[in-house]
Amino acid sequence: MELPQDFTRRIRSQLGDACDDFLACYEKERAYGLRCNPLKIEEKKLRSVLLEKQIETEQVPWAAEGFYYSKDVYPGKLPLHEAGAYYIQEPSAMIAVSLLDPQPGERILDLCAAPGGKSTQIAGRMLGQGLLVTNEVVAQRARILSRNIERMGVRNAVVLNETPKRLAERFPLYFDRILVDAPCSGEGMFRKDIQARGEWSLEQVEICAKRQRDILEKAASMLKPGGILVYSTCTFAPQENEQNAEWFVRQYPQFELQRQEQIWPHLQRGEGHFAARFYKKHLSKEETAISPACERTADTAKKQARKKNVRKSDTDKAAGYEQLQEFCTTTLSEEMCSRMRLQISSGQLAVFGDQLYLLPAEIRSLDGLKAERAGLHLGCCKKRRFEPAHALAMALRPEDVTQTTETEEPERFLRGETTGCGDQKGWTLVTTDGCSAGWGKASQGVLKNHYPKGLRRN
Ligand code: SAM
Repeated sequence: MELPQDFTRRIRSQLGDACDDFLACYEKERAYGLRCNPLKIEEKKLRSVLLEKQIETEQVPWAAEGFYYSKDVYPGKLPLHEAGAYYIQEPSAMIAVSLLDPQPGERILDLCAAPGGKSTQIAGRMLGQGLLVTNEVVAQRARILSRNIERMGVRNAVVLNETPKRLAERFPLYFDRILVDAPCSGEGMFRKDIQARGEWSLEQVEICAKRQRDILEKAASMLKPGGILVYSTCTFAPQENEQNAEWFVRQYPQFELQRQEQIWPHLQRGEGHFAARFYKKHLSKEETAISPACERTADTAKKQARKKNVRKSDTDKAAGYEQLQEFCTTTLSEEMCSRMRLQISSGQLAVFGDQLYLLPAEIRSLDGLKAERAGLHLGCCKKRRFEPAHALAMALRPEDVTQTTETEEPERFLRGETTGCGDQKGWTLVTTDGCSAGWGKASQGVLKNHYPKGLRRN
């Protein structure tokens, strides 16, 4: 499919003499990238394991955890991918989180998050500390986001399926950093996804630009003073990029544009991405007026949520709490066990029917919000026994448990096959190249496979 004529006309006026170089890119191979997940594996080890499998990697300049690979290898098919050791991501898309610069312990919101490329990159940089609220407005996409959060072993995230408006009402001045990776006209996808060319129009660019401003408006109200907001798109249209960034600082003078980057496919090895970083300087009068009330609401909500969770877990003690305690003692390392106990005693345990979740410490009540995942899924209580969730296995490292099995044949494990297990007994964390891939339960020399049926390979 040809590039849309209106698009080439606009690009020509945008790039001048460089336009021919830009258009020539469409005859060349696109860039392929993957991003190491530090929650599961060290970068050096990942690169050497991939090299053993004939996958050479090369550093992406704008993201320390990002690497190029070549067209004719398929890292997405390796068991290590299912184990969450890396995320396949278009290299230029990695720049937004580099600009956001998330830190462990912060409260971070990813407002337009599915399928989760940038959320899982943020989670990697947060190292399991602090709160990541990752939100997607389309329900079906929120489920995909949730699966990726699970695969990458993220512990400190809640996955929501909300509109920016409802979140803005709920979280005024709440976050240290916010990413708005906005829905856009997708011009940077034209090489990777030919169909995207057919969906493009000048009118669509204007519709996107307006929608982006609406989303930015909501994001602005959720950021604390002193916080950082990054706005990004995968398009080249000035209306959606520089012009929206200019509009934003004009509209919200407490925001200062600190940096702006555009990756062009004829200049860099990437398909194209725009990212702008804003700093929220100080409170406006209106914000100063509402701030103490917001903080009070936040505190009350937090206390109520804690009370509620403790109450719930108290009521459910017979149904699940003791079994969970027993599971922790027998299956988790001493350190992980005491950490988990501390989190439970400080009110982070949430019980939904027979399902147990561990809420991130920072979260206020999720009551009334559509939560696709209320924190880390610990497991479920079945007939007075606790069955650990796949999400918990994915979030644990080998040193967090008392028993592990490094599978020699990970493909068999991913197909759901049972294997031998010597004299092991009970829950075992099954690993591939040292990364947790799921649970097995050992009994009488057989390791029963607990890899979820819905994820199994044929
Ligand atoms: N950040 C994601 C990643 O790195 O994997 C990609 C996000 S994609 C560019 C934009 C997302 O915004 C889509 O998942 C889309 O469903 C969502 N979206 C669409 N309309 C929206 C709206 N009005 N408000 C918020 N999000 C919206």
